[in-house]
Amino acid sequence: MKDTSKHQGLRKQLADVLKKKGIIDDHVLKAIKLIPRHLFIDSSFADHAYQDKAFPIAAEQTISQPFTVAFQTQTLSINSGDKILEIGTGSGYQTAVLIELGASVYTIERQHELFKKTSLFLPKLGYVPKKFIFGDGYKGFKEKAPFDKILVTAGAPFVPKPLLSQLKVGGKLLIPVGDEKQVMTLFIRKTSKEFEKHELGDFSFVPMLQKKN
Ligand code: SAH
Repeated sequence: MKDTSKHQGLRKQLADVLKKKGIIDDHVLKAIKLIPRHLFIDSSFADHAYQDKAFPIAAEQTISQPFTVAFQTQTLSINSGDKILEIGTGSGYQTAVLIELGASVYTIERQHELFKKTSLFLPKLGYVPKKFIFGDGYKGFKEKAPFDKILVTAGAPFVPKPLLSQLKVGGKLLIPVGDEKQVMTLFIRKTSKEFEKHELGDFSFVPMLQKKN
């Protein structure tokens, strides 16, 4: 696993691109500058790792576009010590960003191949979540609820009820909702029964799947 000054230079450029696109949270930009994204993707795409693009990873999934990762992270305004549930571990890149910001992360993946691969890889880079969970994100993770923030990194056809109910009062759920395209949707839990909803623009994600293949 190699990280060079060339990669570091490319990351700095990527952070500048993201800044122009509206990422203003310095902690997020710093994480982008630190994390070696080229190590999270297939070596045949590694040369392009610092373009603002999504790429294929294993099991027909994708590593989210850097802007999307930065936007979701910024929107959730992560504080050090936040307890976070992430749905869709994938490559682990978003997980690494959250951990870099000091969060305690529980992350769920339904593809066994990715679950295995990423749970071995991420700790080698020094990023250790509280728990890698192999399972179905539609159910959330009741054992460790409630969470300060819940981040969904796959396109959900609807908002799963368990995710809303596993939020702390004052907590935030960020979820892309839709079939072909998704609307980035933020829910803030105001009281045990009331949620405030904000729609934050169109994005494109791989689907949040309901049954095991
Ligand atoms: N955060 C990841 C994004 C990966 S793409 C990254 O930056 O690499 C979305 C991921 O969600 C895929 O790995 C996919 O397998 C996973 N996924 C899809 N449906 C899911 C579900 N119901 N539960 C848990 N993970 C799911």
